Amino acid sequence: MTQEMNPFKLAQAQFDQVAEQMGLDQAVRDMLRWPLREYRFQLPVRMDNGSIKVFFGFRVQHNDARGPAKGGIRFAANETLDTVRALATWMTWKCAVADIPLGGGKGGVIVDPSTLSVGEKERLCREWIDAVWKNLGPRNDVPAPDVGTTPQMMGWMMDEYSKLRGEYVPGVITGKPLGGGGSAGRTAATGYGVIVTVREAMRHIGWLSPGRTASIQGFGNVAQYAARNFIELLGGKVISVSCWNRTDKTAYTFCKEEGIDPYFLQSITDQYGSISKKEAERAGYTVEDGDAWLSKDVDVLIPAAVEGVITGQNVEQISSRVKILAEGANGPTTLEADEVLKRRNIFTIPDFLCNAGGVTCSYFEQVQNDMNYYWPEEEVLSKLDQKMSAAFHAVLEMSLDKKLYTRDAAYWVAIARVERAMRLRGWL
Ligand code: GLU
Repeated sequence: MTQEMNPFKLAQAQFDQVAEQMGLDQAVRDMLRWPLREYRFQLPVRMDNGSIKVFFGFRVQHNDARGPAKGGIRFAANETLDTVRALATWMTWKCAVADIPLGGGKGGVIVDPSTLSVGEKERLCREWIDAVWKNLGPRNDVPAPDVGTTPQMMGWMMDEYSKLRGEYVPGVITGKPLGGGGSAGRTAATGYGVIVTVREAMRHIGWLSPGRTASIQGFGNVAQYAARNFIELLGGKVISVSCWNRTDKTAYTFCKEEGIDPYFLQSITDQYGSISKKEAERAGYTVEDGDAWLSKDVDVLIPAAVEGVITGQNVEQISSRVKILAEGANGPTTLEADEVLKRRNIFTIPDFLCNAGGVTCSYFEQVQNDMNYYWPEEEVLSKLDQKMSAAFHAVLEMSLDKKLYTRDAAYWVAIARVERAMRLRGWL
């Protein structure tokens, strides 16, 4: 991993830049450059063939001044402590910018979940909880799904925690399945929120009209719902999506000039987000290489897969037509690439604002768990729209007021809120 690609170095460098602009006290910088607490543990799991395999797991709590640490758990073959640290840090900013009373955390396991049977996955999930349950809880730290984990896994984890505590504790984890303590709208929430921010950005630049085009990287949970909502909420057209192909171990971009059909593509996608190349070709999609999504002649680019994909090496491939970069993924853009985006005046909706819809809905899920009373989907989505629009406008106002790049403006809003909470609690 190069220096530029180490996500924690990126998260710290982004923070340092804004800390300097804001003239933050040294103590505030010291608190926020590093996580408050980190746990690393071994997870021995009985495999189906009777052998024991030992996995590595992590949980990082970056900051909990505004409320319990909050953030997903990733199951990924290339997981490292530094990726988890970065993602935990971004969660602190995400919850603060969304103005929900939660802090930032993240967890992970070094594992390719597609190599596990259902039983092995369940045992690994339960083991993960057994290892850290004393540090979790609705008032301490609340995990959720992320890359490589699913609502079903959250259900198993909630069950394991409840057994250890000897009582039903649905609020210990969010993103649970519907009927198992989950919230209506949670699956759609992140992608829906991405498009709410795209709508507000288009309105701001005077570009909101039907028929706008988008190109998306990824076809997992965030990308699928971003595609649907770009089409259904905004009347737009998604002309390409790029995703990893597990069989061929490479990425492809699936293109259709008249617009992709996200429902059809979803029907030929496996549970890990791999679209079947054969079936897509049979349905008339052109298949290009995995990077092609970035250079498409579209109005909006939506990276919605993983971190570190828009770099100093490839950022110049972005077409001059692109007006908005909506970061559905966490940390997709490196510092070098950011400089180019600024210079080219592309309106960037930074990750921790753009994809805050997921955690905002997680917050609603916890509120519903506490009340033991559940809202219908329209109510959840309308509350989500309000929260995401308010977050977008707080950042936009800061950016206009202080003449800041949107990412820096989002950092200003978030850092100021976290600093205030730390001071109010007497930490500083
Ligand atoms: N994993 C999602 C994120 O990165 C959701 C986190 C949550 O719901 O706690 O924002």
